[in-house]
Amino acid sequence: PTLEQVKKDGELVMLTNAAFPPFEYVENNEFVGVDVDIANEIAKDLGVKVKVVNMDFDGIVDAVKSGKGSFGAAGITIKPDRLDKVDFSIEYVKSSQYLIIKKGSGVTADQIPNLTIGVQAGTTGEFFCVDDNAMAEDQVKKYKTALEAANDLKNGRLDGVIVDQLPAESIVAKNSDLELIPEALTEESYAIAVQKGNTTLLDAINTTLQRLMDEGKIDEYVLKHMGA
Ligand code: GLN
Repeated sequence: PTLEQVKKDGELVMLTNAAFPPFEYVENNEFVGVDVDIANEIAKDLGVKVKVVNMDFDGIVDAVKSGKGSFGAAGITIKPDRLDKVDFSIEYVKSSQYLIIKKGSGVTADQIPNLTIGVQAGTTGEFFCVDDNAMAEDQVKKYKTALEAANDLKNGRLDGVIVDQLPAESIVAKNSDLELIPEALTEESYAIAVQKGNTTLLDAINTTLQRLMDEGKIDEYVLKHMGA
């Protein structure tokens, strides 16, 4: 929807995958997180409301491409093949993939090409394993969420889980039997995705994002949600 359509509907529809704390998660039956706070600010600036639609991460870019929802906000890393499908806002967070292991297992990041790794399907964690490390299909186990992958790591079905930095920190903070290897495996930037050519909405999103960054709000939102 164009900016005009959003204003007419009185609603911004945010497509996300709410299993990615601190960026989006469910608390007390509500969608919350850094991306939800950002969406609320965009909506406030436009005088409309936010509706959050929860879906699998690997469907978000295609859904935005086909015109579902107003935008995708899900800690989405800007990637060339995604830029073929959607337009991205300015970057609002820098991130990296990180390796989580079972505490005391002695697994190291250099061993990654020879390990069995759990990832969230369709994420840069999967692409890091498959494309950058040429790992075989059966070495890279795909899950709908990183939390499900972490459970299989706890159960001994995986040697490690590769996921974005802050979600990795959040998982390790809640699971004392897991450990984070403090080594950035990739360099990534998050942005909000809109349908190609939707410049009126993209400009509005960029205006709010720039304001939030100038005001130091994004860092505030991250701090607020890291306890979750
Ligand atoms: N940043 C990663 C990606 O874009 C993971 C995002 C997510 O799982 N929500 O692929």
